Amino acid sequence: MKYTTVARLGRSVIVSLMALGCYVAAPQASPVAVVNAGFEDTSGQSVFNEFTLGQPAGWNFHNPTGLIGSLGTFTGTLQPNGSDFFNTTAPEGSKVSILFNSERQGEGEYGYVQTLAATLQADTTYALTVQVGNIASGTAQNGAFFDLDGFPGYRVDLLAGNTVIAQDLNTLAMAEGEFALSTVSISIGAVHAQLGQALGIRLVNLNVIPDGYTQATSPDLEVDFDDVSLSATTVPEPATGLSLGLGGGVGLLIQCLAKRRRLRRLTAAAGAERH
Ligand code: CA
Repeated sequence: MKYTTVARLGRSVIVSLMALGCYVAAPQASPVAVVNAGFEDTSGQSVFNEFTLGQPAGWNFHNPTGLIGSLGTFTGTLQPNGSDFFNTTAPEGSKVSILFNSERQGEGEYGYVQTLAATLQADTTYALTVQVGNIASGTAQNGAFFDLDGFPGYRVDLLAGNTVIAQDLNTLAMAEGEFALSTVSISIGAVHAQLGQALGIRLVNLNVIPDGYTQATSPDLEVDFDDVSLSATTVPEPATGLSLGLGGGVGLLIQCLAKRRRLRRLTAAAGAERH
């Protein structure tokens, strides 16, 4: 069969499917709700120069070694002005979250974690994006200088229950004062051990001494995060996609016509009973 004939037939099948009400929409990504995803809500935090200090609304602490709450470790937000600490303003809104450890006092990773209302669904592709910032040395509004050279490393985890189902383990390399977009994605099939469990997002400062430094000489270590976004895209059943080609399209058309015939017979039978 010539290509033009196949293409013409394919078009007629699709037009017929649409005319019969059998059109199958292409899958669309739906946003999954994340509370305070851009860290703009600083309620409950204290203001310190261009920073706020405390626990960002909607987020819990990831604090496996008890670093948060100890001397020298600070959580909260920074409002970058585009010249001090970062070369740009915040990627989203006006604030970014901070995970700051002064002169690396204390061992171990720490960060933020949020358990979402949404649960892990079958036949769904999830895509999580987060802006990750490598803060540069700079002077705060009160004149205090912070040595923030180097980068302690980061991790972004997508969770279902307590299980990490996908992660970005420090794959980005940002220059001093720059943000970059971390992307974590996973396609869930019909079966997964964590189906139905609550989704979660964890943002981590790995707190690793940068190359060229020791514990005694370490600068202040900080990772910044902003603009957390999670989407879910339902994967269509294999038999319903229009991308099946001509053969699949014809099969779908036959199924659709058979369904319409059954409906017509049922309607006629119901009409006969009424009379
Ligand atoms: Ca923000």
